Amino acid sequence: MDDLKGMSARTRLVHAGRHPHDNHGVVNPPVYHASTILQPSLAVWEASRKPDFKGYRYGRAGTPTSRSFEEAVADMYGAADAVAVSSGMASIACALMAVLKAGDHLLVTDSAYFPTRKFCDQMLARYGVETTYYDPRIGAGISELIRPKTRAVYTEAPGSLTFEMQDIPAIAEAAHARGAVVLTDNTWGTALHFDAFAKGVDIVVEAVTKYICGHSDVMMGVIASTAEHAAAVRDMVRLHGNCSGPDDLYLAQRGLRTMGVRLKQNEASGLALAGWLENRPEVAAVLHPGLPSHPDHAIWKRDFTGACGLFSFVLKPVPKAALAAFLDGLKLYGMGASWGGFESLILPGDPAALRTATSWDMPGQLLRIHAGLEDLDDLVADLEAGFARLNAASAAAA
Ligand SMILES: *Cc1c(COP(=O)(O)O)cnc(C)c1O
Repeated sequence: MDDLKGMSARTRLVHAGRHPHDNHGVVNPPVYHASTILQPSLAVWEASRKPDFKGYRYGRAGTPTSRSFEEAVADMYGAADAVAVSSGMASIACALMAVLKAGDHLLVTDSAYFPTRKFCDQMLARYGVETTYYDPRIGAGISELIRPKTRAVYTEAPGSLTFEMQDIPAIAEAAHARGAVVLTDNTWGTALHFDAFAKGVDIVVEAVTKYICGHSDVMMGVIASTAEHAAAVRDMVRLHGNCSGPDDLYLAQRGLRTMGVRLKQNEASGLALAGWLENRPEVAAVLHPGLPSHPDHAIWKRDFTGACGLFSFVLKPVPKAALAAFLDGLKLYGMGASWGGFESLILPGDPAALRTATSWDMPGQLLRIHAGLEDLDDLVADLEAGFARLNAASAAAA
């Protein structure tokens, strides 16, 4: 939207993609339930078959509901195009398939979201694409792994379980020098905290399910791309028959408008909890790139303008019963997959089982926290009571 040029992403997300005066002045875009879309004449019907047709031709190919959401996301990212898909996983699958073909080689960070790795190993391998996993901290050293057939380098910063940062500008420079496309999963950073295209990324995938939706009630993904890749991405999404339902698109768009203020709270509570955990005697390490003690803090500070509410910490080794006593008694932290909603979550993770290019040698249990929108004091008190239970159960087992 040209009116918003020069304004911050935080401002643009409030206004982008909305056109109230095309809709009786109603603030939010209407929800169009559509499969068939009628054309008024043979001439328009014929025009609607052409690739450059600007109107609507069929529900799966886009409605005013999907386009307004996509326009808002493209605007926030400063991308040539953005296309909504049915989940974050679908955004990863479609983006990779849009750039890869049989015989290609792909480089993927060892810290990638685990289903991404499964997609590469189970699906891309079947179609003749070879994947090599690399150390997330490789930086410009990625050059040494790039082969003549390397078509794409897939990044994700930070890793959503182990929180290594990646030097994406250095990786992008090395990849582009050899003609490889750079993709990133920006679900943690979002358009508000990581300006992926300015850092050299060509295609961004994001799980809308997480912060854009923000209320744990929608599955959706989005792929944003530069002009060079926009048509191939849109084509691949359509060939997969991938589209989102109008009510979900509406909820995602509604979530987007408040993402700026929600993320401020998630960020502040996440950083405060991470700092508090660092000083607990039961904790061996806290993995949050926003902490000065994090080994990649300098990269985070250079490339990101903020954090979300997701980070991990590693306990010193305790008996299973003590871990269960800690987790089972928590009142505010739910145990379940996903993150980015209004509520706090905690989840045990096992990084050692999920990597091949690097190793994980911390002996204690990793726990991933999503800091939700509850009051920070209550979030701290809940963990504090958990540590009291953990210590009591450890003592009882000794
Ligand atoms: C959740 C998640 C996804 C997948 O999103 P879904 O909507 O659950 O399919 C992708 N990447 C990251 C980093 C995620 O956390």
